[in-house]
Amino acid sequence: MHVAEGGFDVPLKCSPEEYKHFVEPAMQEAQNSNFPSALDIVENGLNAHPASEGLMFLKAYFGYKIADTMSSELTSFPKVIQSLGNGALMVDGSMTSQLLGKFEEIVKILSEAEESINELLQVNPSSQEVVAFKGYIDSRKNQLGQESENMKATISNTPNIAGSFCVGCRKSISYDTQKVVFRKSSASQLEAWHLPCFQSKVKN
Ligand SMILES: [Zn+2]
Repeated sequence: MHVAEGGFDVPLKCSPEEYKHFVEPAMQEAQNSNFPSALDIVENGLNAHPASEGLMFLKAYFGYKIADTMSSELTSFPKVIQSLGNGALMVDGSMTSQLLGKFEEIVKILSEAEESINELLQVNPSSQEVVAFKGYIDSRKNQLGQESENMKATISNTPNIAGSFCVGCRKSISYDTQKVVFRKSSASQLEAWHLPCFQSKVKN
């Protein structure tokens, strides 16, 4: 079996019937970058042929491609943190929460891909290609996990550093839903503002 696109040439067992009914149609979908449909076809195939190594690999591969596509879509996501000049930073809380949600979705898809790879490794412990692919998925998953941990830590730490109240209106700030501006007020102090409060202060 040959998966040309991703550069994986994996010699895995796959019967002619599995190939004709599942691998071929799934690869067709994949060629049109329709990875969710490709994954559906492969999962149907696995229901009928749970021991098919070729289908197990493709399940992991298409899962990985879906995660990859979602990750590249995130690059067009609006910036979560923006500099407003003079050392002021604007953090978009609701955007941050949405981004974290996306990260979680991608990690979940990668975990499912990894499960399939683990099954494959049980029957194919010495396949270099499978081991390499597992490493690939693992590192991606860890990287996303790390990024979202950092983001979560930042959000949950912010009230400790900047307090829970806006310097402008003295009302409370919701760091995970509102747009908040941070500015250094002294060497050790960080002040937080609602974005509209900060903007009206700058104007006056
Ligand atoms: Zn305010």
